[in-house]
Amino acid sequence: MRSPESGVRLAAFTTLGVGGPAKWCARAESADEVREVDAWARQHAEPMVVLGGGSNVLVADRGFDGLVLRIGMRGIWPAPDGDGMLLRAAAGEPWDAVVAWAVAHGLAGIECLSGIPGTVGGTPIQNVGAYGQEVANTIVSVTVFDRQAAAIQVLSKSDCDFAYRSSRFKTRDAGRFVICDVTFRLQPGAPTVTYPDLRRYLDAHARSTPTLDDARAAVLAVRRSKGMVLDAADHDTRSVGSFFTNPVVREDWVDEIGRRVSQRPPAYPVGPGWMKVPAAWLLEQAGFSRGYGTGAVGLSSKHPLAVTNRGGATASEVVAFAVDLKRRVADRFGVDLVPEPTFVGFEDDEQVRYLIAGTA
Ligand code: NAP
Repeated sequence: MRSPESGVRLAAFTTLGVGGPAKWCARAESADEVREVDAWARQHAEPMVVLGGGSNVLVADRGFDGLVLRIGMRGIWPAPDGDGMLLRAAAGEPWDAVVAWAVAHGLAGIECLSGIPGTVGGTPIQNVGAYGQEVANTIVSVTVFDRQAAAIQVLSKSDCDFAYRSSRFKTRDAGRFVICDVTFRLQPGAPTVTYPDLRRYLDAHARSTPTLDDARAAVLAVRRSKGMVLDAADHDTRSVGSFFTNPVVREDWVDEIGRRVSQRPPAYPVGPGWMKVPAAWLLEQAGFSRGYGTGAVGLSSKHPLAVTNRGGATASEVVAFAVDLKRRVADRFGVDLVPEPTFVGFEDDEQVRYLIAGTA
């Protein structure tokens, strides 16, 4: 392991492009180096946070007063498994390269997750999902460095407590594990095409029986049209993707929301008595349309759920903007929007506390 560097600015390592320096910054290229960096942080009594692709993180303007571990592990290791493949991918591999590899080899299971920024290691944390697939459907195991036990371990899928956009890595064991690699089981087969956006695109392109390649192309095209594929030339993509998760509310509250705007919201069942309502719809109905905002921070002109840095934004401007969105949705609909990104360096920040824990 190389000695940690001091004062490295973190903005450049995030897709939103805001945030100050890390007191210390180290990069690990193997699980053993993760262990060494963790030991260094302990010896020097520095708190440690992990940075993967930086696509789902908001770093404070004052930076992080501790050690930032950058994940540099690379490699994919396929192993035939019956008709299909067990695919182990290192945490630092770009996620979309793994999806592209699977699709090119005729393997189904993650094609709808095309174009999602970030690295493999970030995907189990929030059980990344899109268009009817989520990584929990194909994950077999996750290799982690357990900071509590100071040991490398393999967790099975059932050890991970996967739920809708959630896992133990995000909830009861947040900060405990550093994800080193992830193994997926993929099978040859037809793509999953259940969401209306994809169906519409494929119908318009005369693909009534789509292949995996067709599905990947459709997902990429739909995501691009929403500014959800990174493009350095397009500031609509300078974001953390969706800023808020889609809230799950009681069924009777869906009716109440509808009464307040004389229009029933789109809603999808997620379990007995509970429905998922698109956060984007709530924002639009609360008066935040695409392109909202006049300053350096604004909503994407392509998707109301992406808070973007139009150039020169600060983290505190992003937070203030998000607080305004959350407050107005809470006042209008009694729904508490929960932010999706991880906040780094915001200890004791009341606005961030409200964003994470505030109630409607
Ligand atoms: P969208 O496709 O416009 O969908 C909006 C909402 O409607 C989402 O809550 C979606 O559920 C739901 N929905 C639409 N069709 C559905 C169906 N046939 N069955 C069940 N639920 C349905 O959303 P978007 O904002 O443009 O995002 C596109 C996709 O990327 C969505 O699947 C979204 O969840 C996903 N995404 C995931 C992450 C993440 O994993 N962190 C971040 C950003 C976006 P779902 O949310 O269950 O899909």
